[in-house]
Parts: sequence; C-alpha cells; structure tokens
Amino acid sequence: VAPPKGKPKWLRVKLPTGKKYTELRGLVDKYNLHTICTSGSCPNMGECWSEGTATFMILGNICTRSCGFCGVKTGRPETVDWEEPEKVARSIKIMNIKHAVVTSVDRDDLSDGGSIIWSETIQAIRRMNPETTLETLIPDFQGKTKNIDRIIAVKPEVVSHNMETVKRLTREVRIQAKYEQSLQVLKYLKDNGIDRTKSGIMLGLGEKEEEVIQTLTDLRSVNLDIVTIGQYLQPSKKHLPVKEFITPDQFKKYEEIGLDMGFRHVESGALVRSSYKAQKHLT
Ligand code: SF4
Ligand code: SF4
Repeated sequence: VAPPKGKPKWLRVKLPTGKKYTELRGLVDKYNLHTICTSGSCPNMGECWSEGTATFMILGNICTRSCGFCGVKTGRPETVDWEEPEKVARSIKIMNIKHAVVTSVDRDDLSDGGSIIWSETIQAIRRMNPETTLETLIPDFQGKTKNIDRIIAVKPEVVSHNMETVKRLTREVRIQAKYEQSLQVLKYLKDNGIDRTKSGIMLGLGEKEEEVIQTLTDLRSVNLDIVTIGQYLQPSKKHLPVKEFITPDQFKKYEEIGLDMGFRHVESGALVRSSYKAQKHLT
C-alpha cells in the first residue's frame, strides 16, 4: 500500500488561543517549566490548558526503550533527580493545574523501574496541591507487581497504561513490550483497587478494523474504564511510517462500538492523545 500523501484537512490544527492559555504559556516560559504539552507541541494545548489540565514527564527525557512510533530519545538515561518530585509539584502549583497527568520514560535500568520516584512525585503533588486530581500514565514496569504496588498505594484517581496498538503490531511498534503483559498490568491495577483504569491506542499503523475491535474487547475483558483512540503521526522520517489516515467517520464508529461494549468513556478522534480531555474521565 502506498503511503498517504499530505495530511487530510481534519488533522490541520488551529494555533492555541485564549486567556488561560496565554497566561499559562507565560508562566511556563518564565519559570522554565517542563510539560509534555509544550515539548511535544501537542495540538490540544489550547483546549487542555483552558480546562486546567497539563501533562508532566518524570525520570528524565531519555528512555531505555526505543518504540518505533515515539519521539522521545533513547539511550543511557540521566541519573535520578531526587528533587524532581518537589519540582513537579511546584510546577503544578505555579500553573494552578486542576488535573495533572504524570508520565515517565521507561527506566528498565533501575531496579525499582523508577517506581519510588513515581510514588514520591504523587505524594509531593498531593502535599502541595491537595485539590489537584491526578492521572498517572505508567510504564509496564516489566510486569513487576512490587513496583506497580507503589503506584496503587498512593491512589491516583486514574491510572493509565497504553497498549498503543493491536496485538499483531505490538512487536513492531513497541519492540520491548508485550501485549499480554500490558493487559495484565491493567488487570492488576483494577483488581487491586484502582477505581478508574485507562488505556490508549493509535491508529494508522496498518491495523485492521477487526483487530481494533479485538483490542477493545481485550481491554473490556480486564474491566478497563476509559479508552482513547487517536491517529498516529510520524514524529520524524526515522520513525514508523503512517500507513493510513483514519477518517472521522471510522473514529466515530469505534467510539460507538466502545460505548456499546460498556467503557465508561471513549475518546476517539484524529487528534485524540492519551491525556486529551483527561479531566472529563473523573466522572
Ligand atoms: Fe497536554 Fe495531553 Fe492535553 Fe496534549 S492532550 S495538551 S499533552 S494534557
Ligand atoms: Fe517512548 Fe514510552 Fe516507548 Fe520510551 S517506552 S520509547 S517513552 S513510548
């Protein structure tokens, strides 16, 4: 199949505007704060920031893994910054964030997988921002329950872990991860008291409709609450190519199928990212 040429019109984004956005942009620049929203130039900044939602990445900017779709650098990761939990909590306070999404690179180099910094970050955010609700978008921690337990113990309102793609393409898309293991992580979270579990997939990597539906079925079978479905966009020529631009009607179809299956929320659309409209998922 020839790769599609040029982005279709539904993927063209408007520049973010609005008073709240301009105010936050000013604070981020002034205090040199790090959010994924700005570093990844996310198309949804206007919308998310005006609702008081932003995403923060912890444990550095270099990942031990090298997923074929991801724009984060791979290599020898930075040393752990034990002051990071306080820094992130302070950023959330300065930005007056109502709902914070925290995520991290994978740290397969650390014996705890980074779970101690994760736990300390959540606790520091709670201390400094008692009104702020939290979503943690966690790595698979190689399925090690001791590390996952540290997340469960600090009770984020939502815990997410992304499948990213359908089973057949998992090896190609996220080489060091396993489809079944990710499902088991989501099951473990739910079985151990996490009220809202969430996962996301990207489309346009060559998956078939029945494979997407199978993935949704698998996610429902582990009692997942919230699913996000978005269009994959190639971060650079070195990354996996876009095989297809999924139409708005097809995204709508997946949303309806997901809602019929019983998910609490389904966000399905070309520009949907895993933390898009995250605050809504608390209801
Ligand atoms: Fe930030 Fe996520 Fe919203 Fe993008 S979708 S602006 S990364 S919170
Ligand atoms: Fe990117 Fe996460 Fe894969 Fe690391 S594990 S390369 S941060 S998607």
